[in-house]
Amino acid sequence: MSSGIPAEDWIGHHARFAPGSPAAHDLASGRRFTYAQFDERIARAALWLARALGVKRGDRVAVLSMNDTDVFELQFACRRLGAIFLPLNWRLAVPELEFICKDASPLVLIHGTEFADAAHQVAKLASVRHLADLANGKPSAYESGLAAASGTLDPPVLDLADIWTIMYTSGTTGRPKGAQITYQMCVFNAIQCAMTVGLTAETKNLVFLPTFHTGGLNVYANPTFHTGGCNVVMRSFDPSLFLKLLTDRALHLTHLLGVPTNFLMLAQELGFADADLSHIVCIGIGGAAAPLALLEDYGRKGIPLQQGWGMTETGPLGLMLSPAMALAKVGSSGLPPMYVRLKICDPDGNEVKPGETGELMIKGPTVTPGYWNRPEANRASFTKDGWFHTGDAARQDEDGYYYIVDRWKDMFISGGENVYPAEVENVIFQLDGVLENAVVGIPHAKWGEVGRAFVVLKTGANLDEAAVIEHCGSQLARYKVPKEVRFLDALPHNATGKVLKHQLPRS
Ligand code: ADP
Repeated sequence: MSSGIPAEDWIGHHARFAPGSPAAHDLASGRRFTYAQFDERIARAALWLARALGVKRGDRVAVLSMNDTDVFELQFACRRLGAIFLPLNWRLAVPELEFICKDASPLVLIHGTEFADAAHQVAKLASVRHLADLANGKPSAYESGLAAASGTLDPPVLDLADIWTIMYTSGTTGRPKGAQITYQMCVFNAIQCAMTVGLTAETKNLVFLPTFHTGGLNVYANPTFHTGGCNVVMRSFDPSLFLKLLTDRALHLTHLLGVPTNFLMLAQELGFADADLSHIVCIGIGGAAAPLALLEDYGRKGIPLQQGWGMTETGPLGLMLSPAMALAKVGSSGLPPMYVRLKICDPDGNEVKPGETGELMIKGPTVTPGYWNRPEANRASFTKDGWFHTGDAARQDEDGYYYIVDRWKDMFISGGENVYPAEVENVIFQLDGVLENAVVGIPHAKWGEVGRAFVVLKTGANLDEAAVIEHCGSQLARYKVPKEVRFLDALPHNATGKVLKHQLPRS
């Protein structure tokens, strides 16, 4: 369905308005690009894709790369051809990439040199026609292609309703599905991000979440390009480099978004206690339940972590806590931005009262038109009148602020009572010595299900099962208290840093 509104070329626009403004800074290679330079490389990349590889409107262009400014160039080059950008998760094994590539059938696969083996195997298994490498600015098919490109292209007129990207969900809840992301979703998400976290042409956003994930690509990286700010790209997350970058006054970062694991790791870094982060306008946290103890610890240090909620399928921004309320409403994911509509419903689709928990439903211009090739999932994910089922359990307080309680699927029922693991995890986090923890429901003869906690201790900490159970017993109703505690060296995480609960043993 057409919107009748053309999709503007963001980089082309800034290259005309502010050609000398910094657009992108690739930390690993040291390359920096102004908007004029970025625009020129994107034009060349589009020419190379079209002329050398035969990419046309609607073709999928798969990119398997660690974070790199080249990945953004390819995203914008796809826009100039009307092609569909398909970022791939480089942590996936070959059969997983094969599944995605058979589903999305890209014409080309452009890969970082370090992923050459996997890329060749996947290309063969999924019949991808062209393979090319990129090498973070070093000699590669990509750089040669850009150098050789000449001439001009006739850019297609794209509509806001056209698909720009297909992004596969990270698979924390099963087989990945390709969320179709339109220009409209990106434009409204960019406007709403700018409004809620103060993005401007002076913004310097640190990109360290992977750009194959909505956290790395769409919050706040693409919105920063939309406002004409600069993205500083870190190849992958490294906590000690992270601390150095955050405290570097010459670099002067203004924005960043991380998942809770990033901030748990940062707090373990030597030097964090004395770190001055007061120049940073917004430190966003989202993507998974943030432990209250973590938010409070940062708050005491004078760092208000601004919580937000979102999904690949929702632009992603669907909730954001303002800086002014970050400490007053600690634990809340905030309020919906201007164009997002939310409601919380019981399983029959009726809205629940404030304070009650139900499923969060969302509608608005940032919500996906559906999954690629998945008519059944699309029927199940939307109500007849267009509300999208988020699969998240949420409640609202008396002031209208939203709290993400947990994923519906992670809830378990013990003795007939609903237990939301995130609530129990928050209590376990209060114990000194706990670095990370996760609670899951396991089958139980008497109660149906009971909780099992998996705990990772900080170095040198000393806690046993009895201490964890006793602490939970002092803070929570009996049915919520885990019956078992297992200590692990680490929890399984996906590439973004979210805990993969389905990989934790239930038997
Ligand atoms: P995946 O579901 O595969 O992790 P996404 O990256 O799209 O894919 O993640 C969206 C999910 O992340 C949401 O449905 C929700 O469960 C979780 N999430 C995002 N933000 C928050 C938050 N602030 N608090 C709790 N959970 C969150």
